[in-house]
Amino acid sequence: MSIAVAVFGAAGRMGRQVCDAVEAAEGLELVARVDVGEDPKLAVEAGARVAVDFTHPDAVLGNLEFCVRNGIHVVVGTSGFGPDKIEQVQRLLAENPESGVGVLVAPNFSLGAVLMMKFAAQAAPYFESVEIVELHHPDKADAPSGTALRTAQLIADARTAAGTAPSPDATVHDEGGHRGGKVQDVTIHSVRLRGLVAHQEVLLGGVGETLTLRHDSLDRASFMPGVVVGVREVAAHPGLTIGLEHYLSL
Ligand code: NAD
Repeated sequence: MSIAVAVFGAAGRMGRQVCDAVEAAEGLELVARVDVGEDPKLAVEAGARVAVDFTHPDAVLGNLEFCVRNGIHVVVGTSGFGPDKIEQVQRLLAENPESGVGVLVAPNFSLGAVLMMKFAAQAAPYFESVEIVELHHPDKADAPSGTALRTAQLIADARTAAGTAPSPDATVHDEGGHRGGKVQDVTIHSVRLRGLVAHQEVLLGGVGETLTLRHDSLDRASFMPGVVVGVREVAAHPGLTIGLEHYLSL
């Protein structure tokens, strides 16, 4: 039996490609396209078993709540998931334990980016300094990107577990915020530039050497195989999962 799928944000740049990918994937059936102005109940009425959300950081929690309360598993690509939002999703799932709903929040669905994050966490304890530069198209609503946020968290966790000291930084004057923003002590620089899609560099530095990990999504097609894996697997993973890597045997 095929998996009935609803797409939230179906008219957006990612949503349109997700609709095409679902329609093309064996064993998946696109049953509802929901965008602004349309009633999310469309997804329930169409019998959706899994919803995919690529909307807006301000809209995603409302959609998630709607799906969990209606027993629909959710694959979330929308960015802006910091600790506050994660906590809200955990609370929502705890309030609805009988639903058995699976929620996958994946900061990045491309295999290359998932590997880049994994390699960054592996390398981070061995270098004195680490910073992230993320580069995206200028129509992106949030900074830093969900991928950078997640990479910084993974790096910080790996460095804390290994007892690595914070990256050295003698800056004492920076009224304009030129040194970028910090997530758990990891500095992130956000570039917004017409022509770009989604790119990230993790810069690691030790005495006399640097290591740069770079990932480039050159086309939104790069995210689609990961989205399809998420849709296929989410029902088998009740509760909250953060990161597509948990569905892959890397
Ligand atoms: P977009 O602006 O092109 O599309 C968003 C769509 O969502 C629009 O059509 C908008 O009308 C719709 N929308 C907004 N609120 C809604 C609501 N309440 N219900 C239904 N639809 C609603 O944006 P995009 O480039 O497609 O990106 C969408 C999100 O996905 C962003 O947060 C982006 O950062 C993220 N993203 C994630 C990945 C990943 O791999 N996880 C990859 C690319 C983009």
